[in-house]
Amino acid sequence: MMSCEIINVAVDGPAGAGKSTVSRAAAKAMGYIYVDTGALYRAVGVNALRNEIDTKDRQAVAESLSDISVNLVFENGEQKVLLNGEDVSAEIRTPDASMAASDVSAVPKVRDFLFDLQRNIASKNNCIMDGRDIGTVVLPNAKVKVFLTASPEERAMRRFRELSEKGSTVKYEEVLEDLIKRDYNDSHREVAPLKQADDAALLDTTGMTLEKSVESLIKIIKEKV
Ligand code: C5P
Repeated sequence: MMSCEIINVAVDGPAGAGKSTVSRAAAKAMGYIYVDTGALYRAVGVNALRNEIDTKDRQAVAESLSDISVNLVFENGEQKVLLNGEDVSAEIRTPDASMAASDVSAVPKVRDFLFDLQRNIASKNNCIMDGRDIGTVVLPNAKVKVFLTASPEERAMRRFRELSEKGSTVKYEEVLEDLIKRDYNDSHREVAPLKQADDAALLDTTGMTLEKSVESLIKIIKEKV
C-alpha cells in the first residue's frame, strides 16, 4: 500500500561539514526538497548589517524583527531566501554574514521568529532540512536524524577552497579561526545549542569524497524509510 506519510530528514552539524552540499544532492536523488535553515539566520544577520545594528546587541536584534519579513521560496528545487521580498541568496554568503548569522542565532526571539516557517515547510513536504537544531528542536519527531560532521581542519579547507574559487582572498588560517569561533558560539549558546540528538545517526565525512558522503546519507535515509 502506498503511504502518504510526509518524510522529514533532519541533518544537523557544525559549520562547513558539507551539510548543504551533501543534503542537496541526496534530496535531489530522493525527490525531496532541500531546506537550508542557515539561510534564514543569515538573512536576519544581513538585515542587521545593512541597518548597522550591532549583532551582539540582543535587544536591538530582537527589535529589528518587527520591521522585517523572511521567507523561503523554492524554484526548480532551488531554495531562495527573501528578506522583505528581496532575494538576498547571494548576499547572505559573505564571511561577515556568516558571523552575523551566528550572533543573531543566539537570540531566542530570532529562533522563535523563524520556527513556524521551518515547521510549516516540513509539515507539507518530504524534505531534507539542514541546520543546527533540526533534530533536537525544530523537528524532534523527524523520521530520520543525522549528525553530519568532519574535522575542523578539513571543514576549514573545504570552506577556504569554496571562497577562493569565488575570488575571495581570505587566508586559510582566518577561515579556520572563524570556523572554530562559530563552532564555539553555536555549541555553547543557551538556546538550541548545536548537539547531536540522542537518536541521530553520526556521519563523519572526514576523508570522504562528496560522492561517498552523499551515498552514505542516502543509505541512512533508506534504512529508516
Ligand atoms: O548553516 P550555516 O552556516 O549557513 O548557518 C549560519 C549560522 O546560522 C550558523 O553558524 C548558526 O549559528 C545559525 N544556525 C542556527 N540554527 C540553524 C541553522 C543555522 O543557529 N538551524
